[in-house]
Amino acid sequence: MTGRVIRGHGKTFIVLSQGREYACEVLAKVKQQVSKRTPVAVGDVVDFVFEGEGPGGIEGVHPRSSKFSRPKVGVGSDAYEQILVSNVDQMVIVTSVAHPRFKQHLLDRLIVAAYKGGLQAAVVINKVDLKHKVDLEHVKEIYGSISVPVITSSASDGTGIGELRTILREKESIFVGHSGVGKSSLLNQVQPGLKLKTGEISDSTGKGRHTTTTIELHPLAEGGFVVDTPGLKVLGLWDITQEELQHYFPEFAPYVDECKFNSCSHTHEPECAVQQALEEGNIFQERYQSYVRLYQALG
Ligand code: GDP
Ligand code: ZN
Repeated sequence: MTGRVIRGHGKTFIVLSQGREYACEVLAKVKQQVSKRTPVAVGDVVDFVFEGEGPGGIEGVHPRSSKFSRPKVGVGSDAYEQILVSNVDQMVIVTSVAHPRFKQHLLDRLIVAAYKGGLQAAVVINKVDLKHKVDLEHVKEIYGSISVPVITSSASDGTGIGELRTILREKESIFVGHSGVGKSSLLNQVQPGLKLKTGEISDSTGKGRHTTTTIELHPLAEGGFVVDTPGLKVLGLWDITQEELQHYFPEFAPYVDECKFNSCSHTHEPECAVQQALEEGNIFQERYQSYVRLYQALG
């Protein structure tokens, strides 16, 4: 049989196949094939056998069309890429205007992570009911220029929820962002009854309290799935080289071949077409600064 892994509990994976859920474990031969990599991830399409009362056995994993991973887990030769979820279409990056404060660099970092994993990106700026100083029009202009939709929302007063529903419809989306920005609250607004846990913000740190770290595909009534990532710590980048980083800044694309040096890093070289474009106002300052910061962090 073939099905989709919709959640995992320790060694057991729940596979949805033709409307029924099957508890399955991963057969040894699958584990051997992939050694240290994640053998089975939530979102995978798998072939499995199921007899009598189960548990069933996962025999094979279909190739993944996209993936969202955590930086390598473990140290040295024990390090491996942990896939959190596979085969989803888009990453919905949730931030807030305040509590916690807006962090554009994090946004840019997650957009890179989305592109690296083969996902589209969308941005939600939540808590617009709160007093803040974020220039929302400017943020929309920046991301509009790279075709990343920006939705401003409030889970408290309902602003933007209709728009959010629209971008989620018929797609599979993973919600990421700092804890406390309102991911679970927004999803509960999109579809009451999803029953996602929401956390309290502790006043001392402004950081949300962790509730759970279970990754699960939740079906939406209007079609599609959403994946919440409660309690997931802010994600680093993995497996990206300094040289490839430029490819995840689509606004650099028209310029990178025009630089004097083939190996131009666009950070300090003379006759760099990217820096030229920046000076002429064709690339946004904030985005360029994020690029340089990420470039240095990857060094
Ligand atoms: P998550 O960690 O990203 O899932 O965040 P939660 O959904 O648990 O929300 C964290 C806290 O922020 C909770 O106390 C929510 O009630 C609150 N919150 C969520 N959305 C909004 C909003 O739009 N406006 C305001 N003022 N508070 C919100
Ligand atoms: Zn350059």
